[in-house]
Amino acid sequence: MEVLSYPNPVLMRKCTPVAVINQRLRDLVSEMLRTMYEFRGVGLAANQVGYPLQLFVMNETGDIEKPEYEHVLINPIIKKRKGILVDEEGCLSFPGIYADVNRSEFIEIESIAIDGSIQRFKWKERPARIAQHEYDHLQGICFVDRLQELNLQEINTKLEELKINYENNVKQGLMPSDEETQKFIAELEKQFCE
Ligand code: ZN
Repeated sequence: MEVLSYPNPVLMRKCTPVAVINQRLRDLVSEMLRTMYEFRGVGLAANQVGYPLQLFVMNETGDIEKPEYEHVLINPIIKKRKGILVDEEGCLSFPGIYADVNRSEFIEIESIAIDGSIQRFKWKERPARIAQHEYDHLQGICFVDRLQELNLQEINTKLEELKINYENNVKQGLMPSDEETQKFIAELEKQFCE
């Protein structure tokens, strides 16, 4: 699987809720987990790999040998937030870019598990931060959208580079055009979202 980079439009669009948990979805989740570990991430949202679905995976350790920290969240909702913490974040869709982001210190998050049951987590600090970052992705929000003006100015040159890269890739046919992406999204919604 390929991880899409900013400013791919799939990253800027609110994802659609998953309506059916079928073998295709389970396969997609396995692929996402594999991709997350391969790229040494601690979380990955479905739209980062081109599937605009309300679904993310995470493992706060980033360690494939520690599956007890592995979580799959389908159609997640953050029910409660408390406190504020600032810490540095990066994102697989923004290679080489790191910046301080404000996040809630504690969250309660509800979602559907891969077996279809409802799961609730109370997380603080690191797992809470990761879950908020991934949850944002599903709303079409990237971590750079959460930055304060000064921090944003610092990374502006790198963001411009990513934009130029993306445009070149589209021109060279290495990435689908926005129109093709829209078609692909409509197809997927038929398969997973009825
Ligand atoms: Zn991210």
